[in-house]
Amino acid sequence: MTEAERRAALEAIAAEVRACTGCRLHEGRTRAVPGEGHPSTEVVFVGEGPGMNEDREGRPFVGRAGDLLVRLLGSIGWRREDVFITNVVKCRPPQNRDPEPDEVAACAPFLRRQLEVLDPSLIVTLGRHSMGRFMPGTTISRVHGTVRPADPETGAGAALVLAMYHPAAALRTPAVEQASYADIGLLPAILEDARARRAGREAAVVPGSAAAAPAASPTPPVTNHSAPEPPALDQLTLFR
Ligand code: SF4
Repeated sequence: MTEAERRAALEAIAAEVRACTGCRLHEGRTRAVPGEGHPSTEVVFVGEGPGMNEDREGRPFVGRAGDLLVRLLGSIGWRREDVFITNVVKCRPPQNRDPEPDEVAACAPFLRRQLEVLDPSLIVTLGRHSMGRFMPGTTISRVHGTVRPADPETGAGAALVLAMYHPAAALRTPAVEQASYADIGLLPAILEDARARRAGREAAVVPGSAAAAPAASPTPPVTNHSAPEPPALDQLTLFR
């Protein structure tokens, strides 16, 4: 898919989101928040749902949490406009309550379709509801800063997933903010790992390639990145 085709496909999904009445959250929204970012990026951040500022502006991660996300990205030399940012639910839950399971389920096809279009190498979950879509059955305090392959059912079968705390939680608790800076510091090395893993998988399906013979062994799950060797930031772009 070309960049123009990806951009058009993402905008078509966004138009559906803005008109969606698929769950009760549409009743209280000012504006739906489909997500935004570079259509050719390899990195997708997935938050939980829009808050008050996002609901007003129709954009994800604006306000103080968005400012912190920009600072976190800046700490590794990345820019907001070079990644894609979206949420598990696209409309604001009333009083910023947690999204209900049926609301998350109703909205899931939009996220899956966005990921199918973007086909990222790396997904970063922000907060426990986003983590729950990609790493079910655990807790954010246990898995933040760890990585695992994405379930193909998510729409991002070639991606690795890193779990992080939500920036709003980091704003409330200095220790969580400190952990968030440590976790995001892992991303450049993990992106390199994700690219290598992806290249190996793609080579394995090309007849006659070195990786195709004999049988390629499955890539083992990736867990803790405790001591990464970050690549030079000026050599790391976030695009295919
Ligand atoms: Fe539709 Fe998702 Fe909004 Fe619910 S949260 S109304 S499923 S776009």
